[in-house]
Amino acid sequence: MTTSLRCYDCGRTATLEDGKRCVCGEPLWFDVDAANFEWPDGDTAEGMWRYRDVLPVSSGPGVAPGGTPLHRAEGLDADVGCRLSVKVEGQNPTGSFKDRGTAVGVGYVLEAGTDWIGTVSHGNMALSTSAYAAAAGLDCAVFVPTDTPAERLELMARHEPHIFRVEGHYGQLYADTLALETDVRFVNSDTPLRVAGQKTVAYEILEAFAPDVPDAIALPVSSGGQASGVWKALRELETAGLIDDPPRLYVVQAAACDPIATAFREGRDEVTPVDGGDTIAVSIANSDPPSGTRTLAAVRDTGGAAVSVTDDETRDAMALLATTAGLSVEPSSAVALAGVRALARDGEIDADEEVVTILTGSGYKERFDTDVDARTRTIALEALADEVESVVDR
Ligand SMILES: *Cc1c(COP(=O)(O)O)cnc(C)c1O
Ligand SMILES: [Zn+2]
Repeated sequence: MTTSLRCYDCGRTATLEDGKRCVCGEPLWFDVDAANFEWPDGDTAEGMWRYRDVLPVSSGPGVAPGGTPLHRAEGLDADVGCRLSVKVEGQNPTGSFKDRGTAVGVGYVLEAGTDWIGTVSHGNMALSTSAYAAAAGLDCAVFVPTDTPAERLELMARHEPHIFRVEGHYGQLYADTLALETDVRFVNSDTPLRVAGQKTVAYEILEAFAPDVPDAIALPVSSGGQASGVWKALRELETAGLIDDPPRLYVVQAAACDPIATAFREGRDEVTPVDGGDTIAVSIANSDPPSGTRTLAAVRDTGGAAVSVTDDETRDAMALLATTAGLSVEPSSAVALAGVRALARDGEIDADEEVVTILTGSGYKERFDTDVDARTRTIALEALADEVESVVDR
């Protein structure tokens, strides 16, 4: 079990026990020697564990995350403006990509022989951590903002974690939990264990395309944990000699809360907090992203961009996925597709380019504002035949 960490920015090293961030202030990630990594052809490990050679732990509890479908969504090409594939992360056991990082975090706590895991989250990560802690027999503490919807709390509560609804600033809560002297191992969204697990989504995408490489990967961004993991994967695969020309990374935010896109637009090297407004993309509304600056470095390094989209564009993308690809995703995932559409419209992505959009979370966890009255009709049983004919003949 390796505990050696490195800073992407200044190159300093640390260990997992030293602290959570580099002395320069930037986040750390695991120092992995990927030079000898090869695609694990014929490996029968479940899901993401096929990449255990580049992970800090080689197994975790419960149903293995990963191995999610990468679906070539031709039906959307014309509308979106490129050759589109979607990585359906909503098919992970708790319905989002967060399971990948959680599995590594929980696997680490199990190997270390300690009892507690914790996280700070609006929803998906808290749900994921609660479920995997239950599967591992660990005690679990999750810290959520007071405005977390009851339907999300109910999903978490099924796994019986300790749920704390914390009054105060969410960004501060994130940092304060990591600074605690405690036996609870916090696996928050950009911590090294989580980023290690979350890089496996990019390993899966690149392995599916090998020996080709997609032109671009687009994903929604909040803390920057997943974007950091994807960038890390690309760097490791370059080191391994499995890709030469990495895909451009496009990260997408909701315009109401877009600190990373703002810094990119303004040509800055550092992401600074913004005053976030309301958006339907609640899972990505982070006004002070802990890996914001690292995400900015990732998009610049790969020749991509950080952009933002309006809630109307997000609603359109959600409807397009639901009605054309049969995929129900949460607004925070649809943001990425809306971003690809905007980038194609602006000529930043060409119609013949292969673009993978990561659909980060399932749309089956909460209600949305679909007008069910307008979409249903009540009929009398005796009128069945006529009613069926009336729609068939139309
Ligand atoms: C957490 C989450 C994101 C954002 O991921 P970060 O790693 O925090 O940038 C995007 N979409 C969904 C569905 C999420 O749960
Ligand atoms: Zn550093």
